[in-house]
Amino acid sequence: MPKKESKHKYIFVIGGVMSGVGKGITTSSIGRILQSKGYKVNPIKIDPYLNVDAGTMNPTEHGEVFVLDSGMECDQDMGNYERFLEYDLGNEDYMTSGMIYKHVIEKERALGYRGRCVEAIPDITNEIANRFKKSAEKSGSDITIVEIGGTVGDYQNILFIEAARSMKIKNPDSVLFIMVSYLPVPGTLGEMKTRPTQNAIHQLNSYGVQADLVVARGVAPLDHRRKEKIAMSCAVRSDAVISAPDIESVYDVPLNFERDNIGELIMEMLNLKKRKGAPGLKDWQSFVKKTKSYKGEVKIAVLGKYFDSGDFVFSDAYVSVIEAIKYSAYHLGKKAKLTWLNSKDIESGKMKVEELLNYDGVVVPGGFGETGIEGIISGIKYVRENKIPYFGLCYGMQLLVIEYARNVLGFKDANTAEINPESKHLIIDIMADQKKKLVDGNYGGSMRLGAYKAVLKEGTIASEAYGEKNISERHRHRYEVNPKFIEQLTKKGLVFSGTSPDNRLMEIAELPKSKHPFFLGTQFHPEFKARPTSPHPLFTAFMKAVIKK
Ligand code: GLN
Repeated sequence: MPKKESKHKYIFVIGGVMSGVGKGITTSSIGRILQSKGYKVNPIKIDPYLNVDAGTMNPTEHGEVFVLDSGMECDQDMGNYERFLEYDLGNEDYMTSGMIYKHVIEKERALGYRGRCVEAIPDITNEIANRFKKSAEKSGSDITIVEIGGTVGDYQNILFIEAARSMKIKNPDSVLFIMVSYLPVPGTLGEMKTRPTQNAIHQLNSYGVQADLVVARGVAPLDHRRKEKIAMSCAVRSDAVISAPDIESVYDVPLNFERDNIGELIMEMLNLKKRKGAPGLKDWQSFVKKTKSYKGEVKIAVLGKYFDSGDFVFSDAYVSVIEAIKYSAYHLGKKAKLTWLNSKDIESGKMKVEELLNYDGVVVPGGFGETGIEGIISGIKYVRENKIPYFGLCYGMQLLVIEYARNVLGFKDANTAEINPESKHLIIDIMADQKKKLVDGNYGGSMRLGAYKAVLKEGTIASEAYGEKNISERHRHRYEVNPKFIEQLTKKGLVFSGTSPDNRLMEIAELPKSKHPFFLGTQFHPEFKARPTSPHPLFTAFMKAVIKK
């Protein structure tokens, strides 16, 4: 338990009515606001599913898998927290039901409960509460904000709510519940309805929990009448019903919330005093100003394979990539206008590769498996030959090298072992220590994950961008550039401008500026370290080439 337990504050954020209402952005924004008041804040994300981590989940269904320095593969909201709070999170800050159950069951097998009966309540709930405390302690924060995934009424998140409730019972002045709910405006009525939100709050009451604040999401602002209605029927203070209408950019949310004074309200409810020397939201405001005062747009195509979700196009699989592009563009006074191109459409003939000429730059993000890959490779060939700036991330780098081997070195069957292990030119091969893991069916959390150091070669685009020789970046891959082909690739002009310190793994591949304005790929994922007020140097270098074009 943290030493100052009674003083440490916990805020639990729970969703009402439906998923996707913006709990993650709410949590991040409240965190940023409390930081601006001079408090140290640490966020925690709970995913109630039984997967032990997010690493094995399909990105089209679940969205991006975000990777921490530690190598933990987690929900994309962890990326939102890191971007909004501009602070690196640790393993303690993420949990799933699977992770909790696995721990408790393993402890039981090791006689950790000394032979007594182990039950969901209190053993699972105690484990959950202990993890909240550990995360708070490790971060040394004043306030922990916990986002409970799912929606109130779900079966899966009940134990997390129960753990939070028991903390509130023990420390009523130090625990707050915020419900982020949705208020629909049915097209046939044209009127905003509060009933579903009232029901959600009543459902929360049935667990023994009272919401202290309600964040009312909807297409329009909440009017006075409806605010009062929610307050009256749900026993919430009317100034604690916060209007949160849809807005153009998620980065406006902290400023919008502050208009309703949410920061001081939370401080009052948690008995927190004003702090001298609090930094305020100045940095955030100046970033938000950049998002509105740009001069001109650049057109960026994101060529990927995880866009289709039923009849809908969906870009959630690439949030960090999208944000990283935007930050660098804003930093250079431009707006990045993004277009999603599905590489499967190139393969089916629905889209012509020549359409890439309509863009100022092309980004290929990470991915796995065979589908859509030939479409991407023909896209890379096209941008290389037509000198369109290209930035490849992880798979996007591996495919850059394969394209180069096929079309410049003439190895027509060049491929990755992930797709065709029989190819004579396995330009991308499985890393030696990964082979046995696949044979054993050991897929979870077993890739090369998290922060690793790399060394940059002087005089290259990469070293110029970073302005330093030694870097550290986050990884998530099983395959690597095959050392057997490095000499041949280098002879034909490809430059490996970043390598692991032992020179064994190729971390960055690029063509010199004399040959192409920007043709560069990274084995790592730079997007995970881009922040609003400190954009990533490689994205900025790419964007400079894009603007020049
Ligand atoms: N599928 C590739 C690998 O495992 C690339 C992974 C990625 O893009 N994250 O090496």
